[in-house]
Amino acid sequence: MSTRKLGINTICSHVGEIKDEQFKGAVSPIYMSTSYQFEDVEVKRYPRYFNTPNQEFLSKKIAALEHAESAMIFGSGMAAVSTTFLAFLKAGDHLVIQNPLYGGTSNFVREELPKYGIEFTFTDGYKVSDFEKAIQPNTKLIHIETPSNPLLTITDIRAVAELAKSKQIVTSIDNTFASPVVQKPIDLGIDIVIHSATKYLGGHSDILAGAVATSQEHIHTIWNVGKNLGGSLSDFMVWMLERSMKTLALRVKAQNRNAKKLAKFLHNHPDVKHVYYPGLKDHPEHELAKSQMKGYGAMMSFEFNKNIDASKFLKALQLIKPSMSLAGVESTMLLPALTSHALLSQEERDRLGISHSLIRFSLGIESKKDIINDLEQAIKRVK
Ligand SMILES: *Cc1c(COP(=O)(O)O)cnc(C)c1O
Repeated sequence: MSTRKLGINTICSHVGEIKDEQFKGAVSPIYMSTSYQFEDVEVKRYPRYFNTPNQEFLSKKIAALEHAESAMIFGSGMAAVSTTFLAFLKAGDHLVIQNPLYGGTSNFVREELPKYGIEFTFTDGYKVSDFEKAIQPNTKLIHIETPSNPLLTITDIRAVAELAKSKQIVTSIDNTFASPVVQKPIDLGIDIVIHSATKYLGGHSDILAGAVATSQEHIHTIWNVGKNLGGSLSDFMVWMLERSMKTLALRVKAQNRNAKKLAKFLHNHPDVKHVYYPGLKDHPEHELAKSQMKGYGAMMSFEFNKNIDASKFLKALQLIKPSMSLAGVESTMLLPALTSHALLSQEERDRLGISHSLIRFSLGIESKKDIINDLEQAIKRVK
């Protein structure tokens, strides 16, 4: 069955199910075996080989969602990122990597790649010209992230993919913030899509996992390194992730709707100085976002005017949780300057535009009026 013709909710709920032939149960059985009967040298099933029944079948759902030939599931988003980078880069090679970027990816590159003799350049910004400037004759991989954390900058996916293709450079994207419901980078020319499945794919703030979706050929390259690094996910958690992903599109669409409404609400609020959200017309890349995303995602950032202290505001919230992670069904907020971006120097934060009053907002699925009521009561209490 070609999954291309299926609607996204059908892919989420059905593709990659394991039929329970024995008992005819409605959901995929869990195969926790770490030992399988030897059949031949080619098909040795073993959890660290990313090929147990649960791993193999859930990979099909992720591949179908990303319009990829194949996929692999990892023990964390960082296992997916690090394995992919080490699969395509060796001593003497060069990586071009976007700035702004997820902090964990940035730390991996700065702290680990030098040990392998791999060179890298962080771009000055997220424009195509910034990537072009950073490319060297030994560049083997370009990695982008859009929308980015925490200011929701939008990188032109098609243009970067085209630039890389013209120089035979492989491209990867961190698609975590968008999810495959909002953005399908392979359709836009990107080679490799990486996810922290801890975020939207899991969606309930209770699974740490990662995924990579790409061509069969690239999966082969990544698999060869992945089996050595050993970053696979327990089959029980794979099964949990399958369960969560059945509602991925339903959740993300509800979260997107909330985000669009809350962005407007905050944008029109007299105490709010600025809202960073690609769905707003005043976002500098609004038109680009419209051309490469379906909906604008459910992440945004905003700043109050000076009359409201952001830390006090977070403490006054009753429904929205001040919390480190993102993308769960519950709405959460955090101050990037004190959390995700606390390790950056003040100068670097100033350069990126991450002030101490910037609040990152991850929209959940709660009723819109309850989210708005919570914001209003908290504003009233701290004013
Ligand atoms: C969380 C996150 C990661 C890392 O994922 P883990 O599952 O925490 O290892 C990578 N990229 C982005 C954009 C993230 O938000």
